[in-house]
Amino acid sequence: MSNDNNPIFGHGYHPEDIIKFLDEYPENEISKTVIVKCRQCGSNIFTCLIDAFEGVIEVGCTACGTKRFLLDVDEWGDEDEPEYVECPLCEENKMNQFNIAVGFVYRASGDVKWVYIGNRCISCGVIESCGDWRINYGPTDEMESNV
Ligand SMILES: [Zn+2]
Ligand SMILES: [Zn+2]
Repeated sequence: MSNDNNPIFGHGYHPEDIIKFLDEYPENEISKTVIVKCRQCGSNIFTCLIDAFEGVIEVGCTACGTKRFLLDVDEWGDEDEPEYVECPLCEENKMNQFNIAVGFVYRASGDVKWVYIGNRCISCGVIESCGDWRINYGPTDEMESNV
Protein backbone atom coordinates (compact mmCIF):
# COMPACT_ATOMS: atom_id res chain seq x y z
CA MET A 1 0.00 0.00 0.00
CA SER A 2 1.17 3.51 -0.67
CA ASN A 3 1.11 6.58 1.50
CA ASP A 4 -1.42 8.35 -0.71
CA ASN A 5 -3.23 9.67 2.34
CA ASN A 6 -0.11 11.39 3.60
CA PRO A 7 1.64 13.11 0.72
CA ILE A 8 4.88 14.81 1.58
CA PHE A 9 7.34 16.57 -0.64
CA GLY A 10 10.97 17.48 -0.49
CA HIS A 11 13.25 19.47 -2.74
CA GLY A 12 16.72 18.85 -4.12
CA TYR A 13 19.20 19.93 -6.74
CA HIS A 14 20.84 16.55 -7.36
CA PRO A 15 19.69 12.94 -7.76
CA GLU A 16 21.49 12.13 -4.50
CA ASP A 17 19.05 14.39 -2.65
CA ILE A 18 16.46 11.63 -3.11
CA ILE A 19 18.52 9.52 -0.70
CA LYS A 20 18.27 12.17 2.00
CA PHE A 21 14.55 12.57 1.33
CA LEU A 22 13.84 8.85 1.71
CA ASP A 23 16.02 8.69 4.84
CA GLU A 24 13.65 11.18 6.44
CA TYR A 25 10.48 9.63 5.02
CA PRO A 26 8.03 8.76 7.81
CA GLU A 27 7.32 5.27 9.04
CA ASN A 28 10.18 3.37 7.54
CA GLU A 29 13.75 2.27 8.13
CA ILE A 30 15.31 2.49 4.72
CA SER A 31 18.79 0.99 4.88
CA LYS A 32 19.88 1.50 1.31
CA THR A 33 18.84 3.76 -1.55
CA VAL A 34 20.09 3.27 -5.10
CA ILE A 35 19.98 5.98 -7.78
CA VAL A 36 18.73 4.42 -11.02
CA LYS A 37 21.11 4.84 -13.97
CA CYS A 38 20.65 3.79 -17.58
CA ARG A 39 22.66 0.63 -18.23
CA GLN A 40 23.22 1.68 -21.84
CA CYS A 41 24.36 5.29 -21.56
CA GLY A 42 24.66 6.07 -17.84
CA SER A 43 22.07 8.86 -17.82
CA ASN A 44 19.93 9.28 -14.71
CA ILE A 45 16.94 11.07 -16.24
CA PHE A 46 13.89 8.96 -17.00
CA THR A 47 10.23 8.86 -17.71
CA CYS A 48 8.58 6.41 -15.34
CA LEU A 49 5.54 4.16 -15.71
CA ILE A 50 4.34 2.71 -12.43
CA ASP A 51 1.54 0.65 -10.92
CA ALA A 52 2.34 0.89 -7.22
CA PHE A 53 -0.61 -1.34 -6.28
CA GLU A 54 0.69 -4.21 -8.39
CA GLY A 55 4.33 -3.33 -7.69
CA VAL A 56 5.49 -2.81 -11.26
CA ILE A 57 7.81 -0.06 -12.50
CA GLU A 58 9.29 0.62 -15.93
CA VAL A 59 11.69 3.47 -16.66
CA GLY A 60 12.61 4.97 -20.02
CA CYS A 61 15.94 6.74 -20.49
CA THR A 62 15.38 10.22 -21.93
CA ALA A 63 18.91 10.31 -23.40
CA CYS A 64 19.03 7.06 -25.41
CA GLY A 65 15.47 5.75 -25.29
CA THR A 66 16.29 2.45 -23.57
CA LYS A 67 13.40 1.11 -21.51
CA ARG A 68 13.66 -1.40 -18.71
CA PHE A 69 11.70 -2.81 -15.80
CA LEU A 70 13.11 -2.46 -12.29
CA LEU A 71 13.04 -4.96 -9.42
CA ASP A 72 11.20 -8.27 -9.87
CA VAL A 73 8.58 -7.84 -12.59
CA ASP A 74 9.64 -7.63 -16.23
CA GLU A 75 6.39 -7.11 -18.10
CA TRP A 76 3.00 -5.49 -17.73
CA GLY A 77 0.15 -7.81 -16.84
CA ASP A 78 -3.39 -7.58 -18.17
CA GLU A 79 -4.67 -6.32 -14.83
CA ASP A 80 -1.99 -3.68 -14.38
CA GLU A 81 -2.80 0.00 -14.72
CA PRO A 82 0.47 1.75 -15.50
CA GLU A 83 0.49 5.52 -15.13
CA TYR A 84 3.20 8.01 -15.96
CA VAL A 85 4.73 9.64 -12.91
CA GLU A 86 3.97 13.35 -13.04
CA CYS A 87 5.37 16.17 -10.95
CA PRO A 88 2.90 16.83 -8.12
CA LEU A 89 3.63 20.54 -8.01
CA CYS A 90 4.93 22.13 -11.20
CA GLU A 91 3.49 22.38 -14.67
CA GLU A 92 6.87 22.86 -16.34
CA ASN A 93 7.71 19.17 -16.52
CA LYS A 94 5.41 18.28 -19.38
CA MET A 95 7.81 15.57 -20.53
CA ASN A 96 7.51 13.88 -17.11
CA GLN A 97 11.28 13.60 -16.64
CA PHE A 98 12.68 12.53 -13.30
CA ASN A 99 15.65 11.22 -11.42
CA ILE A 100 14.53 7.90 -9.92
CA ALA A 101 15.83 6.05 -6.87
CA VAL A 102 14.81 2.88 -5.06
CA GLY A 103 14.98 2.63 -1.27
CA PHE A 104 15.09 -0.75 0.44
CA VAL A 105 13.75 -1.75 3.85
CA TYR A 106 15.13 -5.09 5.08
CA ARG A 107 13.91 -7.95 7.23
CA ALA A 108 16.09 -9.38 9.99
CA SER A 109 16.91 -12.20 7.55
CA GLY A 110 18.55 -9.69 5.22
CA ASP A 111 15.87 -10.02 2.55
CA VAL A 112 14.00 -6.99 1.28
CA LYS A 113 10.74 -6.29 3.12
CA TRP A 114 9.57 -3.13 1.41
CA VAL A 115 10.61 -0.91 -1.50
CA TYR A 116 10.11 2.85 -1.86
CA ILE A 117 10.37 4.57 -5.22
CA GLY A 118 11.73 8.12 -4.95
CA ASN A 119 11.46 10.62 -7.79
CA ARG A 120 12.92 14.11 -8.30
CA CYS A 121 11.39 16.44 -10.90
CA ILE A 122 14.22 17.68 -13.10
CA SER A 123 12.32 20.92 -13.80
CA CYS A 124 11.50 22.17 -10.32
CA GLY A 125 13.48 19.82 -8.05
CA VAL A 126 10.51 18.58 -6.06
CA ILE A 127 11.10 15.14 -4.57
CA GLU A 128 8.40 12.68 -3.56
CA SER A 129 7.80 8.97 -3.33
CA CYS A 130 5.53 7.98 -6.20
CA GLY A 131 4.96 4.51 -4.78
CA ASP A 132 5.97 1.86 -2.28
CA TRP A 133 5.08 -1.77 -1.77
CA ARG A 134 5.76 -4.83 0.34
CA ILE A 135 7.90 -7.74 -0.82
CA ASN A 136 6.48 -11.07 0.31
CA TYR A 137 9.14 -13.62 -0.57
CA GLY A 138 12.81 -14.42 -0.31
CA PRO A 139 15.59 -14.56 -1.23
CA THR A 140 15.44 -11.12 -2.82
CA ASP A 141 19.00 -10.72 -4.08
CA GLU A 142 17.99 -10.83 -7.72
CA MET A 143 15.29 -8.16 -7.54
CA GLU A 144 17.50 -6.04 -5.33
CA SER A 145 20.22 -5.96 -7.96
CA ASN A 146 17.82 -4.99 -10.73
CA VAL A 147 17.68 -1.23 -10.20
ZN1 LIG B 1 20.29 5.72 -21.80
ZN1 LIG C 1 8.23 19.80 -10.97
